[in-house]
Parts: sequence; structure tokens; C-alpha cells
Amino acid sequence: MKTLFEKIAAREIPAQIAYEDELVLAIRDINPQAPVHLLIFPKRAVPRIAEATPDDHKLLGHLLLKAAEVAAQAGLKNGGYRLVINNGEDGGETVPHLHCHILGGRRLAWPPG
Ligand code: AMP
Repeated sequence: MKTLFEKIAAREIPAQIAYEDELVLAIRDINPQAPVHLLIFPKRAVPRIAEATPDDHKLLGHLLLKAAEVAAQAGLKNGGYRLVINNGEDGGETVPHLHCHILGGRRLAWPPG
């Protein structure tokens, strides 16, 4: 069965796409927690970072490099931004397809809630 983000990548569910290449897709979060809130994820479903394997190392490097590019494209380079990967129940993960949140456009609190 396809994950939500696989369905978005396959255009079976609509989303506002901010960036796409052969390996990753970046979309606007449907429930933004900051003025800019994007999600970037591998098209190939890795459930969560805890289940990534050494075979995924190039994919994960690509994901992070592209996250920084997408953040810059969204105008966040000067003000800064936060990248977040939620893992498991205590981490707040709700979609079991590895994704990285890109949050910015306001001063973010630390520690997170
Ligand atoms: P997480 O809680 O870290 O698993 O993040 C999942 C994120 O996916 C949440 O921020 C949701 O708002 C977002 N989300 C859920 N469904 C959609 C959708 N159809 N399009 C865009 N973002 C979504």
C-alpha cells in the first residue's frame, strides 16, 4: 500500500509542490506551523530515520542538501530556519514516510514543545 507521500509523488493526491527531482519531492505543509512550512521527503518510502540503512546514505545526504536549497529558494537563507525530522510516537511522527520539515519566517522557540 502506498504512503500518503507516495500518493502525492504519484499525483494521486494534490499538493503544492515546491521542488522535485528524481529522488525527492518538497511540498507545502497542509497545516503550516510557521509562515514558511515545507516538507521534503524521498520519493522512495523509508518509514522513518530509525529504519534507514547504510544503503540510504546517499539519499539522506541528498535530502538534506536539497532541504537547504529549498529553504534558500523560499527566502529563508538570511533569516535562518529549522529542519525537523520527527521519529516515532514521542517524536510526534504522524506520517510513516520519512520527511524533513523546513520551518521559517518567524523566530522559532527553543526548546520545542
Ligand atoms: P509528522 O507529524 O512529522 O509526521 O509530519 C507530518 C506532516 O504532514 C504534518 O505537518 C502535516 O500537517 C502534514 N500533512 C499531512 N497531510 C498532508 C497533505 N495531504 N499535504 C501536505 N502536508 C500534509
